Amino acid sequence: MTPEPPDSDNAAAKSRETSKSSSALLEIRDLRVHFRTRDGVVHAVEGAQLSVERGQTLGVVGESGSGKSVTAMTVIGLTRFPNATISGEIEFDGIDLINLPDNQMRRVRGRRIAMIFQDPLSSLHPLYKVGWQIVEAIQTHEEVSTSEARARTIEALREVGIPSPEKRIDSYPHELSGGMRQRVMIAMALVLKPDVLIADEPTTALDVTVQAQILDLIRRLKDEYGTAVVMITHDLGVIAELADEVAVMYAGRVMEKAPREVLFTSPELPYTWGLMRSIPRLDAPRPDRLDSISGLPPSLINLPPGCPFHPRCPYVMDVCLKKEPELKQSEPGHLVSCHLDVKERQQIGRDLQTLYR
Ligand code: SF4
Repeated sequence: MTPEPPDSDNAAAKSRETSKSSSALLEIRDLRVHFRTRDGVVHAVEGAQLSVERGQTLGVVGESGSGKSVTAMTVIGLTRFPNATISGEIEFDGIDLINLPDNQMRRVRGRRIAMIFQDPLSSLHPLYKVGWQIVEAIQTHEEVSTSEARARTIEALREVGIPSPEKRIDSYPHELSGGMRQRVMIAMALVLKPDVLIADEPTTALDVTVQAQILDLIRRLKDEYGTAVVMITHDLGVIAELADEVAVMYAGRVMEKAPREVLFTSPELPYTWGLMRSIPRLDAPRPDRLDSISGLPPSLINLPPGCPFHPRCPYVMDVCLKKEPELKQSEPGHLVSCHLDVKERQQIGRDLQTLYR
């Protein structure tokens, strides 16, 4: 039987007390998400394995179409479309999220697992004042008066650096800049103090200064409340800033997973090497142009046989065309899905001498 999601303050406080637990708060095992379309079945996520502990940040990196966002949206039940087939396990604090009824999922979403997106306009209702939307979110999950919820909203807007929050609380989303709107979304997360925050490219549309401020706010949420953060991005710089552990996704699969330091000093996957070569280095002369990974991500309807990266891989071998590599441990805590000899790929990874050593 699916356990009732604890959503009272007591339950939330009790669950946060265990923030030092070493076990995963959110664990995804063998997740598969397929969508039937007129052109064929889209294999958006194919056997993904991820986990994150309280107070930790998992960075999920990969190109568009790698399955990062679909995985995240599936965690909070946003891919339950009639044409979707979802299998595998998503366990959050002992709750089976895949089979959680919609009415219980709504109580988990927002209060215990919050998600912020690249474009806050997709989450904020354009016709309602931003303050009202936060007040409503508080009152959906807690029995508090409107005046108390409003006072907490003003405080949260102040905490995320919105000037004159007493006035801004009555602004409509279109009256705020992109950075301000993202702050509003983080303020909403601050007032609800979720156990897990999933941030899907939250800074991609923002300039560098605002990006740093938003990352700082997310870091605070993690440090002050023990929130587990899943940071989805294509930007390795963001990963280097924030992540404790990194998962590299490609074609709906997790193909490399390692603690941040390990990934940046000894990456073992040709795809990860390609991602790293495509970012500028501070410790080397500026090249005329950066390397990019040749070719395009594969169609998720017609995936190539064998390793899905083989059409783009400079190290491709015969076996790569026939057999998909398993995600296997290379060193403790370092998982890699590649047919290359372990010693060889460890040497190549070390030779890269990447930026974040
Ligand atoms: Fe490249 Fe083969 Fe490794 Fe895939 S399995 S990343 S094609 S070497």
